[in-house]
Amino acid sequence: MARRKQSRGKCAFCGREMTRGGLTKHLAACSQRQKATSAAEHGSGKAQALHHLQVRDAWAGDFWLHLEMNGLATLTDLDRYLRAIWLECCGHLSQFSIGGWSGAEIPKESQIQQVFRPGVELTHIYDFGTSSETLIKAVGVRQGKPLTPHPIALMARNDPPEAYCIECGEPALWLCLECLYERNESGTLCDQRAKDHPHDDYGEPMPLVNSPRVGMCGYCGPAEPPY
Ligand SMILES: [Zn+2]
Ligand SMILES: [Zn+2]
Ligand SMILES: [Zn+2]
Ligand SMILES: [Zn+2]
Repeated sequence: MARRKQSRGKCAFCGREMTRGGLTKHLAACSQRQKATSAAEHGSGKAQALHHLQVRDAWAGDFWLHLEMNGLATLTDLDRYLRAIWLECCGHLSQFSIGGWSGAEIPKESQIQQVFRPGVELTHIYDFGTSSETLIKAVGVRQGKPLTPHPIALMARNDPPEAYCIECGEPALWLCLECLYERNESGTLCDQRAKDHPHDDYGEPMPLVNSPRVGMCGYCGPAEPPY
């Protein structure tokens, strides 16, 4: 069977484009990243353990992030980041656990450096109704000063998935949930055709953004990093 094409994304330091797994290796060796981390050593940040976290949606893994997170920050900071970049629709509850749904819950006030060791994987669940499940794996750690004044630095994310209008084949920017749920179609629409699309059982077409929560609950983006 042909292997499904893996999503790709760019290294934030040097711009090289690769798969999620390729970036895990690349980021450990990227010379532009090394320049940035040496420059940060001259800054005023507090030296600490800095954790390389690989984040992906638990469904197909097409949506992913490579983050560097301060060891002194907490899971609350990570929860806020995930909500901002991927998840927030109506302020649902969320939790972190080890071992998936039935695993032990980890309190959100826990410090990153107490929770993550290379190889440790946490599950984040947002919304216990229409749930979005995210896996967060620690893939490395270094000692040093953070790259930014924020608790998290975004090192890479997947490029927006390619989608084409089901009516004309142009790049799609919108999603019709009625097509998706009731008609077994992808429901992706261009700007033009979204305007006169006849279905409204699930409301107007939703914006197609770079998030694993597209099409779930009332999610409408913007799927932008908070910083
Ligand atoms: Zn790079
Ligand atoms: Zn919601
Ligand atoms: Zn179209
Ligand atoms: Zn439709």
